[in-house]
Parts: sequence; C-alpha cells; structure tokens
Amino acid sequence: MRKILMGAGAGLALLTGVIGYNTWQFTPQASQSAAPYVLGADIDAAAQSLSKAVQFKTIANGSHQEEFDGFLALLKSEFPLIANKLTLEPLANNTQLYTWHGTDPSLAPVLLAAHSDVVPISFGSLDRWSYTPFSGEIADGYVWGRGTLDDKGALIAIMATVEHLLATGFTPKRTVYLSFGGDEEIGGDGALAVANHLIAQGVTLDWALDEGSFVLQDVIPGLDVPVASINLAEKGYVTVKLVARSPGGHSALPPRVTAVGRIARAVDALQTTPVPGGLSDVSGAFFDNLGRHFSLEKRVLFANTWLFSPLLNVVLSDAATTNAMLRTTTAPTMLAGSNKENVLAAEASAVINFRIHPRDTIDSVIAHVTETIDDPEVEIVVDRQFSSNPSPVADEASAGYTQIQTAITQAFGPLATVPGLTIAATDARHYALAAKNAFRINPFKVTNDDIARFHGIDERLSIENLEAGMNFYGALLSKQ
Ligand SMILES: [Zn+2]
Repeated sequence: MRKILMGAGAGLALLTGVIGYNTWQFTPQASQSAAPYVLGADIDAAAQSLSKAVQFKTIANGSHQEEFDGFLALLKSEFPLIANKLTLEPLANNTQLYTWHGTDPSLAPVLLAAHSDVVPISFGSLDRWSYTPFSGEIADGYVWGRGTLDDKGALIAIMATVEHLLATGFTPKRTVYLSFGGDEEIGGDGALAVANHLIAQGVTLDWALDEGSFVLQDVIPGLDVPVASINLAEKGYVTVKLVARSPGGHSALPPRVTAVGRIARAVDALQTTPVPGGLSDVSGAFFDNLGRHFSLEKRVLFANTWLFSPLLNVVLSDAATTNAMLRTTTAPTMLAGSNKENVLAAEASAVINFRIHPRDTIDSVIAHVTETIDDPEVEIVVDRQFSSNPSPVADEASAGYTQIQTAITQAFGPLATVPGLTIAATDARHYALAAKNAFRINPFKVTNDDIARFHGIDERLSIENLEAGMNFYGALLSKQ
C-alpha cells in the first residue's frame, strides 16, 4: 500500500513538473528587433484624400458607374506621381492594377490589395448616422463614412504611402503590384481577373496582402495586449437544402412521421453533431501563438494541450467566435413547411449554410451531412454554383509573413502577432491563385465598437489609424 502511495506521489510530482515546465517555456516567440518606422508623410492630406474617396458612392450593383468613374479620376488627381510613374491596367468591374517596376527583375514580385466598392446603407438606418454616410466628414479625429474601414481606408493608405515614397525617390528592388478590386462585396471577379492576368504573364507573386483581419484591441477576452492577427487562410462556403416529401393531406390524419418532423430531426442531428474540429492546423497555430500572451492560469492550459485539449475544445466550442476558429460551422437559416395549419406539408425543407474550415472540403462537409442525417427519405440538394472550397493556407514560416509581422510591430509598437483564419470571404482567395502565399490584415487598430461599425452605422477610421497604417505600408515597402 505504501509503495503504491509513494508511486502515485512520484507520478503526481512528475506530472506537476511537466505541466509547470511546459508553462514556464510557453512564452511569446521572440519577435524581430523592430525599431519604430515613421514614414513622415502629410497625414492631413491623406485624411483629405480619404474624405474625398468616401464621397463617391461606389456600390457595385451595376448602377453606379459614374461614381466609379469619379473615384478613379480622383485617384489620378490626388496621386499624380503614381499616375506618372506606375503602369495602370484597368481590369474587370472597375478593378485597377498598378505595376511599380522593381530594379531587380530576378526577384519575385509582391502585391498589396484593397477594394474600392462599398456596401449600401442598410434600409431604414440612414437617420441613425451621426454624419451623412457619403459625406466623408472629418470630425473628432476621424474620417466618417461608408468605406472608411472597408476598404477605402487601406486603399488610400497604400496610395498615399507609395506617392510619398515616390516623392522621396525610393524605388523597390522587387516589382510591387497595387491591386484595387471594384467588386469585392459581390464576389470579386475583378481580383480573379487580376490573378488570371498575372498567371497569363507567367508571374508568381512571392506574396499578396489583402484585407481580412485587423489589429484587435480588447477584442479577445483576457488579453490587454493588442493582437495583430495575420490571417493565413479564409474559410470556404457551401449551402445545402434538405428536402422531405410526403403525400400531404388533412392534419387530422397525420402519419407517424411527417415531412416537417423528418426535416426537424435532420436539422437537430446536424446541430447536435457539429463538424469535428479542434486545435490542429491553422487553428492550432492561432491558439498556440495567442495562448502565450494569456495570464498564468489560462497559459497552463494552452501550454499543455497534450493534456488539456479535450477541455479546451469544450470551452472554445461554447462561444460562437472561438467555435468559428475551430471548425466548419453549421448554420440552419431557412425553414419551410405547409402554409396552412390544418394541411400536412407535401414538402418540407431546411437550408443550412456551412463555412468550411481549411482542413475540410465541400465534399467532406456533404459526406458529414449525409452520414449525420442518416435518412434516405431526406434529399440533400447542394448549391454548387455559390460554393467555394477553403483557400490554401499560407506559410507562417515564410519571409513574407516575417516582413508583415515586423512592419506591424514597427508601426504599432509592442503587440502580439498571431497567424489566424478569416471566417468570411475576401478577394485574397483570388490573389492566392497567383501567389506562393496570401496574407490578410488591414493595418488598423480596432475595438469591438469599431467592428460593429463595419458594414454598419457610423463607419469611421481614426486619423491616428490612417497614420499607423501608412507607417506599416511604408515599413513593408521599404524592404521590397
Ligand atoms: Zn472589404
């Protein structure tokens, strides 16, 4: 008995030792020494350019061509050195591709991206805006209006930075492309045209950088340090419709299982059996990097995933935001049955939208749906036309990632940089076709309050952020 107790005691001491050692070792990876970078451009002039850019109502629905024409003319007049020295190729749907020729053609080019189209003002919300959404008001240290965060802020920051670097006589060694899609919000055929155009010319980009994330301040509970999530991939998308049929008839004589009941059972099965996920692949990399910045009691868990990953899976799957990072999400969105209370549905249906994690594919999700529902009486109709597989996952060990990580630190000071996953779609998935690696982040620091303004009411960008963003692009471009 004593031997068993002594053995158990030694085992416990060893376990505690291993957990303690792992936690002690689990600290942020040493970041590159990064002296602050200051571009020294005229920020007030850049804010004025953004204000003017917002005033063009560039909604990509086919009926605002004169707004796009005005916007593209504005770029020429605001940034005359770019108009003079860079090559401009107009591509599909008001998309603009600028080429800044580098001095060393043996180096693989890089691409900075943003988009000029914006989403409309949602119906009935106009009177809740502090300033008219397309006025481009400059007040309280912000440029206000639709498109400031998404994505004219980045577009103007890139243009103003390049204009300034041209004025100082800088020429990159690598060729740098600036690509501004005109239809990101409706599918991004413009960015696809850019990728195809580059591929046709035999160009393989070393990397492309587009929107898809921000520097997050007070967004992740328990973290005071700002987190720059440099996203390596974005999720795919597929929608399935589940259909059950029955002879219908009078509700006084229902069969044991109705079409509605069958659909309800299928939806419930999918909700209670999520697509498997966990701390692997890009999700593993995200939480491994993020976990190093938490306080001790949380760090213990992330430092010892060999022991605690089942617990972490349960906790992280519980909140919508972290769940979306771990797995393909299942969202039942539409239901239909009979249109009369006393008539049995001859057909009942449910629509389920899946956002596909990079470890899964459209086909593996459909296989999960079929297996989980396990009911031959439920037809599974896949909308293949509006589906996409997840993007490839960029390499966080590549030089491009390190350059972006360093430039973020140079512009924003000490922060946590982590590789992440974009849960919505961006143009970056198209640029990825022509690039070894595609990364996603806009160099602006946002809080939850700012994120709510994205596609929402009172969208705005602080002039401080515009300046930090330009310092970021300046630091990044000066290394090319
Ligand atoms: Zn956008």
